[in-house]
Amino acid sequence: GVITHTSTVTTPYRGAGRVPVGIGRKRMRVVVTGGAGFVGSHLVDKLIKRGDDVIVIDNFFTGRKENVMHHFGDHRFELIRHDVVEPILLEVDQIYHLACPASPVHYKCIFMFSFYFDVLEILNSDYKTNVMGTLNMLGLAKRIGARFLLTSTSEVYGDPLEHPQKETYWGNVNPIGVRSCYDEGKRTAETLTMDYHRGADVEVRIARIFNTYGPRMCLDDGRVVSNFVAQAIRKQPMTVYGDGKQTRSFQYVSDLVDGLMALMDGEHIGPFNLGNPGEFTMLELAEVVKEVIDPSATIEFRANTADDPHKRKPDISRAKELLNWEPKVPLRDGLPLMVNDFRNRILNEDEGKGN
Ligand code: NAD
Ligand code: UDP
Ligand code: UDP
Repeated sequence: GVITHTSTVTTPYRGAGRVPVGIGRKRMRVVVTGGAGFVGSHLVDKLIKRGDDVIVIDNFFTGRKENVMHHFGDHRFELIRHDVVEPILLEVDQIYHLACPASPVHYKCIFMFSFYFDVLEILNSDYKTNVMGTLNMLGLAKRIGARFLLTSTSEVYGDPLEHPQKETYWGNVNPIGVRSCYDEGKRTAETLTMDYHRGADVEVRIARIFNTYGPRMCLDDGRVVSNFVAQAIRKQPMTVYGDGKQTRSFQYVSDLVDGLMALMDGEHIGPFNLGNPGEFTMLELAEVVKEVIDPSATIEFRANTADDPHKRKPDISRAKELLNWEPKVPLRDGLPLMVNDFRNRILNEDEGKGN
């Protein structure tokens, strides 16, 4: 594994370097943008495990080297510190495009800071990453004939007027709200993806990912599962926003990774909803966290944020039928699988503070 601090890396072995792996499958050269992040790093683990060559592109905005460090020294793994807003030259077969400042706290902070301190460059960064980053990766895919997969989001449905949401639903999104840099950013990314498919014949795939949790999630990124789990471990009250009756559907990360790979390697463009249809109110989620981590955990109500979707649940019939995929891990089984990772990181943080 090499950390390359340049923005231009070429590997001149397209075609020639491909060797058979297993029966009937070629060894792929795969780029994962955002591969040092939560979902990306789990995807990288599975790609490496099946024998692919993997290049991670990440600027470490929310990702961490620790998430992929266990691959350092493996000749099939390469890590490039690079911002996808800038062009890059590579030669690969597949591009998984995950790079995006994904957490609500991060994108709202970006907005607040830029509003108060007039840092316009930062204000642009979330939307800009979605637009410029996706454009560059599509340009790359076009030049080298690679297949491109966009990780879009259930946020494209906004505060949905259809429930559960099917891929045919066009969404209910506030184009100028505080979340719009994210949801409109992803909607634009979907548009660009279909534009390059129709106009330049790029092979594309679109996944609409619903709320996903698991080990390596950012500790303090403000998402509800990471907040509740970290709060319960730290013996702080779990912060329920609004009346806690809003719903989400929570998917364990290994199910998502299976879905992303089935989509990339399958024949269908999508978009495909990838999520677990098990729907919970935030109060119910707090109950599950309590059962799993600490029966004495308490909750505390806080004002909700603007434009918070009232409910969200995927209709996954399309993915079931065409990708032969469905999630296997229910919330009560998945949640315990992230607790050790969270405990260890919180412990390390506390030790760090003591030094
Ligand atoms: P994450 O924040 O852990 O990962 C995103 C990664 O992208 C990080 O490693 C970050 O450093 C990197 N990144 C951000 N901006 C970049 C840039 N300009 N150039 C290069 N790298 C950059 O988030 P995640 O949960 O792993 O999300 C991965 C993808 O899945 C995102 O596109 C996100 O929108 C999508 N998604 C995730 C969820 C979820 O619940 N986790 C839900 C819907 C969609
Ligand atoms: N691009 C890139 N790597 C490549 C090819 C293109 O980063 O290997 C970028 C390129 O710099 C441009 C974007 O992708 O900003 C779109 O490329 P395309 O060729 O589609 O558009 P054009 O350059 O013609 O505007
Ligand atoms: N939420 C909450 N407490 C928290 C963080 C979030 O009650 O500490 C709520 C939030 O208002 C939203 C839901 O949990 O209704 C999911 O929020 P998250 O940011 O995880 O995901 P998204 O809104 O993007 O689906």
